[in-house]
Amino acid sequence: MAAREHGLAPLVFRLHGGAPQVVREVLLERGWEEYDEQKQEEGDWNLYWKTSAFRNSDYEDILPWQRLNHHPKTIHITRKDCLTRHLRRMKSAHGAAAFDFSPAAFILPNEYIKFLAAYTRNRTAEKHRYWIGKPVDLSRGRGIFLLDNIKDLTYDSPVIIQRYISNPLLISGYKFDLRIYVCVKSFYPLIIYMHQEGLVRFATEKYNLVSLDNVYAHLTNTSINKFGLCYTTDKERVGRGCKWTMNKFRSFLHNQGVNELLLWRKISNIVTLTLLTAAPSVPSCPNCLELLGFDILIDASFKPWLLEVNYSPALSLDCPADVTVKKGLINDIIDLMNYRMIDGFRQKGYLRRYMRSCTRCHYILTKIPPAFLLPKTPSAPRRWGKVGAKRKKENITFPSIKTTTSSRHKQTQPMSDVSHNDEKRNVEVESDDCELTALRRVRQSSRNLPSTVCKLPSLYLQNHKSPTAPDNRPSQDRCIPPSRVGDFILTFPFNEVTWKASRDDMDAKSVVHEIQKLTSRLASSFSGNESSNMDKRGAIRDKFEAFLWGPKNPPLLSECCGLKSQ
Ligand code: ADP
Repeated sequence: MAAREHGLAPLVFRLHGGAPQVVREVLLERGWEEYDEQKQEEGDWNLYWKTSAFRNSDYEDILPWQRLNHHPKTIHITRKDCLTRHLRRMKSAHGAAAFDFSPAAFILPNEYIKFLAAYTRNRTAEKHRYWIGKPVDLSRGRGIFLLDNIKDLTYDSPVIIQRYISNPLLISGYKFDLRIYVCVKSFYPLIIYMHQEGLVRFATEKYNLVSLDNVYAHLTNTSINKFGLCYTTDKERVGRGCKWTMNKFRSFLHNQGVNELLLWRKISNIVTLTLLTAAPSVPSCPNCLELLGFDILIDASFKPWLLEVNYSPALSLDCPADVTVKKGLINDIIDLMNYRMIDGFRQKGYLRRYMRSCTRCHYILTKIPPAFLLPKTPSAPRRWGKVGAKRKKENITFPSIKTTTSSRHKQTQPMSDVSHNDEKRNVEVESDDCELTALRRVRQSSRNLPSTVCKLPSLYLQNHKSPTAPDNRPSQDRCIPPSRVGDFILTFPFNEVTWKASRDDMDAKSVVHEIQKLTSRLASSFSGNESSNMDKRGAIRDKFEAFLWGPKNPPLLSECCGLKSQ
């Protein structure tokens, strides 16, 4: 229901030039207002959405009621060369078995000699003789080329040259890949949600290895295929255009009698392991959230491969599938941002309440609104710009529900008696120097918040009920991130061990181990060769009610591992 109907201030979004129109549409539909820099003050917004990266100062200046749609420093996985380097490092640290989801790649020109050796080794193997070259910092299929003879290798900017997956799974002869939408709620601790809807993107001409230069047969980018001659024709089974919703793809798999559960599990593993490579280098920033687009190619043996990770995945609405998927996606992202009515009282409303209740402006300096207080934690918060190899536990720890519920209840109550009319009047008539100075000082003081202050109300303070979470669940369990928010499914952490590992300096080793354990447990469960009861206990059946990402009505992981009947 619109905030205004309750006499409350509407939330305000700010879009940077080039930000997707669908974000505007969805937010307006939800009753938000668009930021107007002529009328509003610099910080008078709740959500700032940019397609490009934010500046360091944007992170430093952030206020309690504000959210940004990017975490800092996610370039570690979204640039092709960085991703290649990071995955290689993880492979050598944790073994090739866990990280064999990314095709072998070399960064040229620096790694030319290594590439030459791999090329020569695979020259005669039919499956491995094809390579794909991609400029490291371009997207949408720009500058991509295929080759099976090193004589054809030419490039004028750094590229990665990657083994071409030459045996893709085809639908009626057409190549496709999956665009999976992933939301990283936090990098520390690592909290990953995967959206159940997504897109299947088709090439628009039939696949063959004879014409390597036919981009309409080998590349699945919409930005390319929408210019193909066959884009509008009704292609066998694929239909018109070049996109399906993930839901349609699931029905397709189902009708083919494919057991998709293990496939989804493997895709979820790819997402987690890839983000695990970046997590230690991304500073903690509780006000931020990152939407990433993972491109996954499935080969003829149903093995999923990671092609790349997209920063600011395209949100344009080119066809009906886009509308279905992207509108739902944005709505669910906003839900994940966990706004509350109280966030409408930014700036003046917030200030005025404190100005009314105190006689002198400087009082504000000593009073941080209690709604933004968390129970004291022993260590100081890590400032976003300082990333140490060793991380300290910090203020986005998850307080026990008892403490937070009571403090929240007690503290948010008085704020809601500031009516929207009051506030509006205040905006129009009260903009004297005293208030502006006070505002500046509040901003300043919120930048130097003591360790007890959390900038963003924790997601776990929300009265969000997971579909299967009984009301009387022990309070400790409720600190666990909700297992589902709209169509976003929590895929990491998925049990107690991974939850602990993601908080304790990101123990990658035990995360990799848990993932491997779970996957082999699922595999043996599907093959009817179930492992011993002893093995099946532990990692899955704990306080978590983790869902298996993928199917529209996802089963619990524990059910898939045959634990239900025990
Ligand atoms: P871009 O950022 O330019 O979209 P991608 O890495 O996503 O670059 O590649 C574009 C397309 O090329 C993919 O959607 C896929 O169809 C194809 N492609 C990329 N890498 C491979 C690969 N290793 N094997 C097979 N096809 C690939």
